[in-house]
Amino acid sequence: MTLQIFNVLGRQKQPFAPIHEGRVGMYVCGPTVYEHSHLGHAKTYVSFDVVARYLRYRGDDLLYVQNITDVGHLLANEEDRILRRAAQLNAKPMQIVETYTRSYFEDMDALGVQRPDISPRASGHVPEQIEMIETLIANGHAYAVDGNVYFDVLSDADYGKLSNRRVEEQHDESRELVGGDKRHPADFALWKRAEPEHILRWNSPWGVGFPGWHIECSAMAKKYLGANFDIHGGGIDNIYPHNENEIAQSESANDVGFANYWMLTGSLNVLDPDEGIPVKMSKSLGNYITIKDALQMYRPQELRYFILTSHYSNPVVFSDEALASAKSGWERLMNAVRLVRQQLNSAPAVDAGNGFLARLETAKADFASVMDDDFNSPRGIAVLQDLTRDVNTLLNSETVVGAATLRAIDDTYSALGGDVLGLVPAVETRQGGDGQREAALIELLIKMRAQARADRDYARSDQIRDQLAALGIVLEDRVDGTIWKLN
Ligand SMILES: [Zn+2]
Repeated sequence: MTLQIFNVLGRQKQPFAPIHEGRVGMYVCGPTVYEHSHLGHAKTYVSFDVVARYLRYRGDDLLYVQNITDVGHLLANEEDRILRRAAQLNAKPMQIVETYTRSYFEDMDALGVQRPDISPRASGHVPEQIEMIETLIANGHAYAVDGNVYFDVLSDADYGKLSNRRVEEQHDESRELVGGDKRHPADFALWKRAEPEHILRWNSPWGVGFPGWHIECSAMAKKYLGANFDIHGGGIDNIYPHNENEIAQSESANDVGFANYWMLTGSLNVLDPDEGIPVKMSKSLGNYITIKDALQMYRPQELRYFILTSHYSNPVVFSDEALASAKSGWERLMNAVRLVRQQLNSAPAVDAGNGFLARLETAKADFASVMDDDFNSPRGIAVLQDLTRDVNTLLNSETVVGAATLRAIDDTYSALGGDVLGLVPAVETRQGGDGQREAALIELLIKMRAQARADRDYARSDQIRDQLAALGIVLEDRVDGTIWKLN
């Protein structure tokens, strides 16, 4: 089966046909860096991380571009988010930008989100933005008024095609509505005149100012992926006006289609304590949990498991119960992986478990088929859980499972659960720990404990178990052996 993608542009599932066979260009709208990221951001970027990982697993040569918005993203009252934060903290705007860009990457690294190939910053691409604005003015899609430049939405017959919002002709009233500057209320700023106190400012053909928010994505996508490219992603809440405006600017300036496939993630919600209904987790509502705080409570893989057990396009509701359920699902998967890896250390050369290799091939084929269906990660996880049931049965049976089979099982988990979903770490580590050495030492102690028990020296075996527990390493005795995990 070929990969199918639900294309928000046109609202239908379509076979994925990249512009250049085997090569894929993907642009995803990145964060505005003025505060620590929260779990809503984690959902978007973990989702696209899995899209990127799966494309690469399929063998596509992916170029993944995700911008950093460090200028121009204004609040509804026209206040600049970064400048406001800088004033609150008595810091320079670029200090704020640097602090929260680093914070964002720290969070993404901790969540196992692989870095995009290019993370261009808006402030580093002002000439490219000015150039695109000049093109839009020259071809009649934009106009300059008193140091500001606006995109003329009525000049673009396609405007609204992504969000299905159509602009009504209401020229006359709108002039008053917007104070006479814009021709139409839906016209949006490509360039803003900088007032004297506005620190982030650049020279331009229209005077000193700064770019509007939307133009950065059009200019940077074009620079790194070309005017027409394969996939554009982002969170559903940016569909209008941001994504719509990106399309309008790019297609009006370049005279070719912008992105061929639009993929948008559903939001991460929390239950409103008063109303009991799901509301979006957001900075403006103040109901958010930062990724840093969440990582104090949950393992990164548990957070990923929670996010990936819903389809990327659906909303999810964050709750302690949902996370507890993710934790137990992940543990079930990992306990099988742990056992397989530990048995590998002492596995016999004799292998009567070879019938299982066919089972692994089935798992890989099932996984590919559900992921080919619009990156259906919940069903991908279900394939791994089905496999886990059979792995447990195999390991609990009388069959002698040799090293070759155990390694093939580990390889399958590592490829599907690890490389693609980012749920199965190559080595279990604590942050900053030397995982491989720690694992070897723990396994040595497990063997010594097994020997002590064989010698009926229970005082010694209990001592080993208790002292490991005091270090946060829990041993679990199962019929098929002892596994360990970090608590
Ligand atoms: Zn964008």
